[in-house]
Amino acid sequence: MGRVISIASQKGGVGKTTTAINLGACLAQESRRVLLVDIDPQGNATSGMGVNGNDQRLGTYEVLIGHAEAKESILPTGLASMDILPTGQRLSGAEVELVGMMARETKLRSCLAKVRDDYDFVLIDSPPSLGLLTVNSLTASDSVIIPLQCEYLALEGLTQLITAIRLVQDHLNPSLRIEGVLLTMYDARLSLSRQVAEEARKFFSDRVYKTIIPRNVRLSEAPSFGKPIVLYDPHSSGAESYRELAREVLGHE
Ligand code: ATP
Ligand code: MG
Repeated sequence: MGRVISIASQKGGVGKTTTAINLGACLAQESRRVLLVDIDPQGNATSGMGVNGNDQRLGTYEVLIGHAEAKESILPTGLASMDILPTGQRLSGAEVELVGMMARETKLRSCLAKVRDDYDFVLIDSPPSLGLLTVNSLTASDSVIIPLQCEYLALEGLTQLITAIRLVQDHLNPSLRIEGVLLTMYDARLSLSRQVAEEARKFFSDRVYKTIIPRNVRLSEAPSFGKPIVLYDPHSSGAESYRELAREVLGHE
Protein backbone atom coordinates (compact mmCIF):
# COMPACT_ATOMS: atom_id res chain seq x y z
CA MET A 1 0.00 0.00 0.00
CA GLY A 2 1.38 3.40 -0.98
CA ARG A 3 2.79 5.72 1.64
CA VAL A 4 0.81 8.95 1.87
CA ILE A 5 2.87 12.01 2.84
CA SER A 6 1.59 15.57 3.35
CA ILE A 7 3.95 18.43 2.62
CA ALA A 8 2.60 21.01 5.05
CA SER A 9 3.21 24.32 6.79
CA GLN A 10 0.85 27.21 7.31
CA LYS A 11 3.72 29.53 6.42
CA GLY A 12 3.64 30.74 2.86
CA GLY A 13 6.53 30.36 0.46
CA VAL A 14 8.65 27.93 2.48
CA GLY A 15 9.13 25.42 -0.33
CA LYS A 16 6.14 23.05 0.07
CA THR A 17 5.24 22.95 -3.60
CA THR A 18 8.86 22.86 -4.78
CA THR A 19 9.40 19.89 -2.46
CA ALA A 20 6.21 18.07 -3.44
CA ILE A 21 7.02 18.34 -7.17
CA ASN A 22 10.71 17.60 -6.96
CA LEU A 23 10.74 14.93 -4.28
CA GLY A 24 7.94 13.28 -6.27
CA ALA A 25 9.89 13.49 -9.52
CA CYS A 26 13.06 12.11 -7.92
CA LEU A 27 11.16 9.20 -6.34
CA ALA A 28 9.67 8.53 -9.79
CA GLN A 29 13.17 8.50 -11.27
CA GLU A 30 14.08 5.93 -8.61
CA SER A 31 11.38 3.76 -10.25
CA ARG A 32 8.75 4.40 -7.60
CA ARG A 33 5.16 4.98 -8.68
CA VAL A 34 4.19 8.45 -7.45
CA LEU A 35 0.91 10.33 -7.26
CA LEU A 36 1.14 14.07 -6.62
CA VAL A 37 -2.08 15.43 -5.12
CA ASP A 38 -2.63 19.18 -5.35
CA ILE A 39 -4.93 20.30 -2.53
CA ASP A 40 -3.89 23.97 -2.67
CA PRO A 41 -6.36 26.21 -4.56
CA GLN A 42 -3.36 28.22 -5.83
CA GLY A 43 -2.68 25.16 -8.00
CA ASN A 44 1.08 25.70 -8.06
CA ALA A 45 1.92 21.99 -8.03
CA THR A 46 -0.45 21.52 -10.97
CA SER A 47 0.99 24.35 -13.07
CA GLY A 48 4.52 23.42 -11.99
CA MET A 49 3.96 20.03 -13.63
CA GLY A 50 2.80 21.71 -16.82
CA VAL A 51 -0.94 21.19 -16.32
CA ASN A 52 -3.52 24.00 -16.49
CA GLY A 53 -5.87 23.09 -13.66
CA ASN A 54 -8.57 25.52 -14.72
CA ASP A 55 -8.83 23.75 -18.09
CA GLN A 56 -9.37 20.34 -16.49
CA ARG A 57 -12.95 19.19 -16.12
CA LEU A 58 -12.03 17.03 -13.11
CA GLY A 59 -9.62 17.54 -10.26
CA THR A 60 -9.23 17.65 -6.48
CA TYR A 61 -12.33 19.84 -6.11
CA GLU A 62 -14.68 17.42 -7.87
CA VAL A 63 -13.17 14.50 -5.96
CA LEU A 64 -13.52 16.19 -2.54
CA ILE A 65 -17.13 17.20 -3.00
CA GLY A 66 -18.02 13.76 -4.33
CA HIS A 67 -18.68 14.66 -7.97
CA ALA A 68 -15.88 12.47 -9.32
CA GLU A 69 -13.71 9.51 -8.42
CA ALA A 70 -9.99 10.08 -7.90
CA LYS A 71 -9.20 7.45 -10.53
CA GLU A 72 -10.96 9.28 -13.37
CA SER A 73 -9.47 12.66 -12.33
CA ILE A 74 -5.81 11.62 -12.28
CA LEU A 75 -3.58 12.66 -15.20
CA PRO A 76 -0.20 11.41 -16.41
CA THR A 77 2.84 13.76 -16.28
CA GLY A 78 6.06 14.10 -18.25
CA LEU A 79 7.56 11.41 -16.01
CA ALA A 80 6.54 7.84 -16.76
CA SER A 81 5.83 6.72 -13.21
CA MET A 82 4.39 9.99 -11.86
CA ASP A 83 0.72 11.01 -12.02
CA ILE A 84 -1.08 14.07 -10.72
CA LEU A 85 -4.47 14.82 -9.25
CA PRO A 86 -4.66 18.43 -10.47
CA THR A 87 -6.47 21.43 -9.10
CA GLY A 88 -7.83 24.69 -10.41
CA GLN A 89 -9.01 27.84 -8.67
CA ARG A 90 -12.47 26.39 -8.09
CA LEU A 91 -10.98 24.37 -5.22
CA SER A 92 -11.05 27.59 -3.16
CA GLY A 93 -14.82 27.07 -2.83
CA ALA A 94 -14.35 23.62 -1.31
CA GLU A 95 -13.31 24.93 2.11
CA VAL A 96 -16.75 26.53 2.49
CA GLU A 97 -18.72 23.75 0.79
CA LEU A 98 -17.12 21.02 2.88
CA VAL A 99 -18.18 22.66 6.14
CA GLY A 100 -21.75 21.45 5.78
CA MET A 101 -20.82 17.91 4.83
CA MET A 102 -20.69 14.73 6.90
CA ALA A 103 -17.18 13.45 7.63
CA ARG A 104 -15.78 16.61 6.12
CA GLU A 105 -12.29 16.05 7.55
CA THR A 106 -11.94 12.55 6.11
CA LYS A 107 -13.07 13.21 2.52
CA LEU A 108 -9.61 13.09 1.00
CA ARG A 109 -8.69 9.95 2.94
CA SER A 110 -11.74 8.07 1.64
CA CYS A 111 -11.16 9.29 -1.92
CA LEU A 112 -7.51 8.27 -1.93
CA ALA A 113 -8.21 4.88 -0.33
CA LYS A 114 -9.32 3.62 -3.73
CA VAL A 115 -6.14 4.61 -5.56
CA ARG A 116 -3.30 4.46 -3.07
CA ASP A 117 -2.62 0.81 -3.87
CA ASP A 118 -1.64 1.86 -7.39
CA TYR A 119 1.30 3.90 -6.05
CA ASP A 120 4.37 3.59 -3.84
CA PHE A 121 4.09 7.23 -2.74
CA VAL A 122 1.24 9.72 -2.63
CA LEU A 123 2.54 13.25 -1.95
CA ILE A 124 0.00 15.91 -1.02
CA ASP A 125 0.91 19.57 -1.59
CA SER A 126 -1.01 21.53 1.05
CA PRO A 127 -2.04 25.21 1.14
CA PRO A 128 -0.39 27.74 3.50
CA SER A 129 -3.13 27.58 6.12
CA LEU A 130 -4.40 25.20 8.79
CA GLY A 131 -7.95 25.15 7.42
CA LEU A 132 -10.10 22.26 6.34
CA LEU A 133 -8.03 21.47 3.24
CA THR A 134 -4.85 21.02 5.27
CA VAL A 135 -6.78 19.03 7.89
CA ASN A 136 -8.00 16.75 5.06
CA SER A 137 -4.44 16.40 3.87
CA LEU A 138 -3.09 15.49 7.35
CA THR A 139 -6.00 13.14 8.02
CA ALA A 140 -5.32 11.28 4.76
CA SER A 141 -1.59 10.89 5.47
CA ASP A 142 0.72 8.43 7.17
CA SER A 143 3.22 11.19 7.77
CA VAL A 144 4.07 14.81 7.19
CA ILE A 145 7.14 16.58 5.82
CA ILE A 146 7.60 20.10 7.20
CA PRO A 147 9.75 22.41 5.05
CA LEU A 148 11.59 25.10 7.02
CA GLN A 149 12.86 28.10 5.10
CA CYS A 150 16.38 28.96 6.29
CA GLU A 151 15.98 32.67 5.68
CA TYR A 152 14.33 34.01 8.73
CA LEU A 153 13.52 32.76 12.20
CA ALA A 154 11.59 29.86 10.81
CA LEU A 155 10.81 28.13 14.09
CA GLU A 156 8.44 30.90 15.06
CA GLY A 157 4.93 29.90 14.12
CA LEU A 158 5.82 26.24 14.03
CA THR A 159 4.02 25.71 17.34
CA GLN A 160 0.71 26.28 15.54
CA LEU A 161 1.53 23.57 13.03
CA ILE A 162 2.63 21.13 15.73
CA THR A 163 -0.60 21.84 17.62
CA ALA A 164 -2.63 21.17 14.47
CA ILE A 165 -0.77 17.89 13.93
CA ARG A 166 -1.49 16.89 17.57
CA LEU A 167 -5.19 17.70 17.16
CA VAL A 168 -5.38 15.58 14.02
CA GLN A 169 -3.55 12.76 15.84
CA ASP A 170 -5.94 12.98 18.80
CA HIS A 171 -9.20 13.17 16.88
CA LEU A 172 -8.83 11.98 13.31
CA ASN A 173 -5.64 10.11 12.52
CA PRO A 174 -3.75 8.61 15.49
CA SER A 175 -1.05 7.08 13.28
CA LEU A 176 0.07 10.39 11.72
CA ARG A 177 3.84 10.84 12.18
CA ILE A 178 6.30 13.60 11.44
CA GLU A 179 8.23 12.11 8.54
CA GLY A 180 10.88 14.79 8.63
CA VAL A 181 11.73 18.46 8.78
CA LEU A 182 13.38 19.73 5.61
CA LEU A 183 15.68 22.74 5.58
CA THR A 184 15.05 24.70 2.37
CA MET A 185 16.53 27.75 0.61
CA TYR A 186 19.73 27.32 2.56
CA ASP A 187 22.49 29.80 1.87
CA ALA A 188 25.76 28.77 3.51
CA ARG A 189 27.04 32.38 3.27
CA LEU A 190 24.33 33.60 5.63
CA SER A 191 24.83 33.17 9.34
CA LEU A 192 21.02 33.25 9.63
CA SER A 193 20.78 30.10 7.50
CA ARG A 194 23.29 28.31 9.72
CA GLN A 195 21.45 29.55 12.81
CA VAL A 196 18.08 28.25 11.58
CA ALA A 197 19.63 24.87 10.76
CA GLU A 198 21.19 24.68 14.22
CA GLU A 199 17.94 25.62 15.99
CA ALA A 200 15.93 23.14 13.95
CA ARG A 201 18.36 20.36 14.89
CA LYS A 202 18.11 21.36 18.55
CA PHE A 203 14.32 21.31 18.45
CA PHE A 204 13.63 18.32 16.17
CA SER A 205 16.95 16.45 16.57
CA ASP A 206 17.21 13.53 14.16
CA ARG A 207 13.86 14.25 12.56
CA VAL A 208 15.62 16.96 10.53
CA TYR A 209 16.74 15.49 7.20
CA LYS A 210 20.49 15.32 6.64
CA THR A 211 19.79 16.60 3.14
CA ILE A 212 19.61 20.39 2.97
CA ILE A 213 18.02 22.10 -0.03
CA PRO A 214 20.18 25.06 -1.08
CA ARG A 215 18.85 28.26 -2.57
CA ASN A 216 19.15 27.59 -6.29
CA VAL A 217 17.70 29.87 -8.93
CA ARG A 218 17.11 26.90 -11.29
CA LEU A 219 14.56 25.56 -8.78
CA SER A 220 12.59 28.80 -8.99
CA GLU A 221 12.75 28.89 -12.80
CA ALA A 222 11.58 25.33 -13.42
CA PRO A 223 7.84 25.84 -12.61
CA SER A 224 7.39 28.43 -15.37
CA PHE A 225 8.50 25.72 -17.80
CA GLY A 226 6.05 23.27 -16.22
CA LYS A 227 8.85 20.88 -15.37
CA PRO A 228 10.37 19.37 -12.25
CA ILE A 229 14.02 20.29 -11.77
CA VAL A 230 15.28 16.86 -12.85
CA LEU A 231 13.85 17.49 -16.33
CA TYR A 232 14.55 21.24 -16.45
CA ASP A 233 18.19 21.17 -15.28
CA PRO A 234 19.24 17.72 -14.05
CA HIS A 235 22.78 18.84 -13.20
CA SER A 236 21.84 21.82 -11.03
CA SER A 237 22.51 21.83 -7.29
CA GLY A 238 18.73 21.89 -6.78
CA ALA A 239 18.26 18.67 -8.76
CA GLU A 240 21.14 17.00 -6.93
CA SER A 241 19.74 17.98 -3.51
CA TYR A 242 16.24 16.64 -4.26
CA ARG A 243 17.74 13.38 -5.59
CA GLU A 244 19.62 13.10 -2.30
CA LEU A 245 16.40 13.78 -0.36
CA ALA A 246 14.60 11.04 -2.31
CA ARG A 247 17.35 8.57 -1.40
CA GLU A 248 17.10 9.63 2.24
CA VAL A 249 13.31 9.19 2.23
CA LEU A 250 13.73 5.74 0.64
CA GLY A 251 16.25 4.88 3.34
CA HIS A 252 13.49 5.43 5.89
CA GLU A 253 11.22 2.89 4.15
P1 ATP B 1 2.83 28.60 -0.71
O1 ATP B 1 2.75 28.64 0.77
O2 ATP B 1 2.43 29.86 -1.38
O3 ATP B 1 2.13 27.39 -1.29
P2 ATP B 1 5.23 27.07 -0.87
O4 ATP B 1 5.51 26.79 0.57
O5 ATP B 1 4.60 26.01 -1.67
O6 ATP B 1 4.40 28.43 -1.04
P3 ATP B 1 7.14 27.30 -2.98
O7 ATP B 1 6.11 27.75 -3.95
O8 ATP B 1 7.68 25.93 -3.15
O9 ATP B 1 6.63 27.49 -1.50
O10 ATP B 1 8.38 28.30 -2.97
C1 ATP B 1 8.18 29.70 -2.85
C2 ATP B 1 9.02 30.42 -3.91
O11 ATP B 1 10.40 30.16 -3.68
C3 ATP B 1 8.74 29.92 -5.32
O12 ATP B 1 8.89 30.97 -6.20
C4 ATP B 1 9.81 28.88 -5.56
O13 ATP B 1 10.12 28.73 -6.93
C5 ATP B 1 10.97 29.45 -4.78
N1 ATP B 1 11.84 28.41 -4.22
C6 ATP B 1 11.48 27.34 -3.49
N2 ATP B 1 12.55 26.62 -3.10
C7 ATP B 1 13.64 27.27 -3.60
C8 ATP B 1 15.05 27.04 -3.53
N3 ATP B 1 15.55 26.01 -2.86
N4 ATP B 1 15.85 27.92 -4.17
C9 ATP B 1 15.34 29.00 -4.83
N5 ATP B 1 14.05 29.26 -4.93
C10 ATP B 1 13.18 28.42 -4.31
MG1 MG C 1 2.69 25.93 -2.50
